[in-house]
Amino acid sequence: MIEILEGIYVFMVGAAIGSFLNVCIGRWPEGLSVVKPRSRCPKCGHGITATENIPILSWLILRGKCSSCRERISIQYPIVELLTALIWLDASVHYGMTFTAFRIAVFVTVLLGIGITDAKHFLIPDGFTVFGLFFVLLTAFVALYLGQSVPFAGPWDAILGMCVGAGAISIVGWLGEVWLKRPAMGFGDVTLMAVVGAAVGPARSLLTIFIAAVIAPIVLLGIVYPLSARGLADDKGQTELPLEAGGGGGWRRRELPFGVFLAPAAVIALFHGNQIIEWYLRVSGL
Ligand SMILES: [Zn+2]
Repeated sequence: MIEILEGIYVFMVGAAIGSFLNVCIGRWPEGLSVVKPRSRCPKCGHGITATENIPILSWLILRGKCSSCRERISIQYPIVELLTALIWLDASVHYGMTFTAFRIAVFVTVLLGIGITDAKHFLIPDGFTVFGLFFVLLTAFVALYLGQSVPFAGPWDAILGMCVGAGAISIVGWLGEVWLKRPAMGFGDVTLMAVVGAAVGPARSLLTIFIAAVIAPIVLLGIVYPLSARGLADDKGQTELPLEAGGGGGWRRRELPFGVFLAPAAVIALFHGNQIIEWYLRVSGL
């Protein structure tokens, strides 16, 4: 019974965090404050009331439309709220009501925000990465004191991983630029890998980049490019991805939003990285 109540509580906290994450995703790329003003309908300026601001539920009750002008509200809002709620619930189910569960929930939430923002706007706001870096480093020291660092890296590996992650992705970006003869990667990917490296340490940060490099061509060639070629993407912004949209071109023409792939790769590396590395060393006989 207690577990069910705890689960409901964690789910609600996660949904509320997801609601705030939507604000970060929407405002940071525009250089706006996430604290104020209150959210408004972008079309008619109707201020979102407290009852219209309940995570997941309000969107369903309003059927995805502004209560004042009936303008469509993006399905991104309830989806991000639900995903964040599930991230927080999942962390608490696997790690209990512990400091580790809290660290995992916050870290994966930050990665979710980064992945979505990079996919939509081709940038990774410093708000996510600066917060993420300080959070990961500070909690590494607290975790050492509490004696529960796994699955995260300890403080020394965190500092080393921060440098290795940022350094390795810089080298990949530099060589990619030489090869493609155009900017291949944004600086946001370097800041992201500093955060990821601090979370998972040097070895798993390299694995993160490798996993992302494997996923990226599969997703791009298998899903994104065929979709944009068929013109499904441009349909009045129905899809959340600016595949071929105006304002400087979509996924095909711009530098690759590599953060979209680094973010999920970091989650895989955090939870399964050590097994993958051990398996590789065994198979390769190193
Ligand atoms: Zn409106």
